[in-house]
Amino acid sequence: MEEFTEKIKEYCIELGAGKAGVANAELLKNPPHQEFDPYELIEDAKTVLSFYVPIPEGVFDIDPDSINDVSISRGFAYVSLERETDMISNKIARMLEKEGYRAVPLSTKIPMELSLRGGILQPYLQRYIAQLAGLGEEGKGNILLTEEHGPRVIFGSVLTNAPLKVDGPKYVGKLCPEECKICAEECRPRAIDPDERPPYNFDRNRCLWGITGALIVSGLDEPPMDWIEAKPSALKVLPAYKKKYPKFERLDLWMSEIGKFPCCTTCIAVCPVGQE
Ligand code: SF4
Ligand code: SF4
Repeated sequence: MEEFTEKIKEYCIELGAGKAGVANAELLKNPPHQEFDPYELIEDAKTVLSFYVPIPEGVFDIDPDSINDVSISRGFAYVSLERETDMISNKIARMLEKEGYRAVPLSTKIPMELSLRGGILQPYLQRYIAQLAGLGEEGKGNILLTEEHGPRVIFGSVLTNAPLKVDGPKYVGKLCPEECKICAEECRPRAIDPDERPPYNFDRNRCLWGITGALIVSGLDEPPMDWIEAKPSALKVLPAYKKKYPKFERLDLWMSEIGKFPCCTTCIAVCPVGQE
């Protein structure tokens, strides 16, 4: 099975992935911050192949306050690479099926409303699988850091009953140094507490101020109290803010054209891990 695992990983890289690893499917039942049961998808699931596609570094050098620049480069990169990642998952699943196994690709996207806790830039499920597959380690900014590209990647995965050779978690306290606080210091809505560890150091509503684009359209670094305290989340008060700030219309126009993308990625852009 070792040879077959290598063959699948090589195919994954040929398709455009940066790196691939394998996790034990059993560890995926009821992950901490997401509702998920691998056995509902494949009764005899055994492993998950996880991989990532690197995001071009250049798209993080743009003016983060320009709606047009953010949309046409970084937004477009996110949307198209998520599609590319999903395409790779589909092709891997078909290859596994050709070899006589069952295989199910797992979506790169999870609606923000269903992402229960933790960071929201990388869907928790994909992040969790990638960590179990030895592709990275959770950083203080509630993002998964890869050794080669830091958090500037899109994760994808395929669940299967193929008994692939498991890689397992590899990094323990190696990638995110205790003394580094860059992501917390650069996060304008102050969503990350630099003195605590994930997921307890993350304020989801404050992050939503950046992710939804409220920060860009309002020009205010921090959200008002009704946004911070909104329950179940700030998405509840978002429609009122869309009325208040007409520039939201321009963002929505971009998203209707190219798809939904995160409007803030500062913590990802500034993370020194994987930077040359
Ligand atoms: S930098 Fe932006 S994306 Fe990162 S935690 Fe802060 S608001 Fe969220
Ligand atoms: S910026 Fe520093 S503290 Fe934040 S995730 Fe990266 S290495 Fe860790």
